[in-house]
Amino acid sequence: MYVISACLAGRKCRYNGGSNEIAWVKDLSEKSKCILVCPEEEGNLPTPRNPSERVGDKVLDKEGNDVTNAFILGSERTMLKINEFSEKENKEVKLAILKSNSPSCGCGMIYDGTFSGKLVKGDGLFVEMLKEKGIKIISEKDEEALNE
Ligand code: SF4
Repeated sequence: MYVISACLAGRKCRYNGGSNEIAWVKDLSEKSKCILVCPEEEGNLPTPRNPSERVGDKVLDKEGNDVTNAFILGSERTMLKINEFSEKENKEVKLAILKSNSPSCGCGMIYDGTFSGKLVKGDGLFVEMLKEKGIKIISEKDEEALNE
């Protein structure tokens, strides 16, 4: 089974109230056993909401509010949901397909905390938790990695 960022499958859970729909990810989500996740909504953050970026161990929104706890709570709840779904379906998570550069879902490169569009090496908070479980992660830019 797959874990998929809900915004990539077309859910309007992005900070600005839109989605990040990507055709191949949406298609996969409709044809495969998968769980759609949005760790930020899971942490009780509203949609729309202020954009947020990681600053070291913290996550701050564009107004300077510290939203770290909501991000941690949302990531922990999402991990629980994944485990429950996996047990119910009796299927292991094969792969996570997650939105690039997000402070939750970004893997490898994330926004640098200046809200200027600059990227730095790093992972979103949710991705850190998935990596601890050894789950392989790709982004919407890696369609060819699906068959590896
Ligand atoms: S937390 Fe992840 S799933 Fe939710 S809007 Fe951000 S990138 Fe998409």
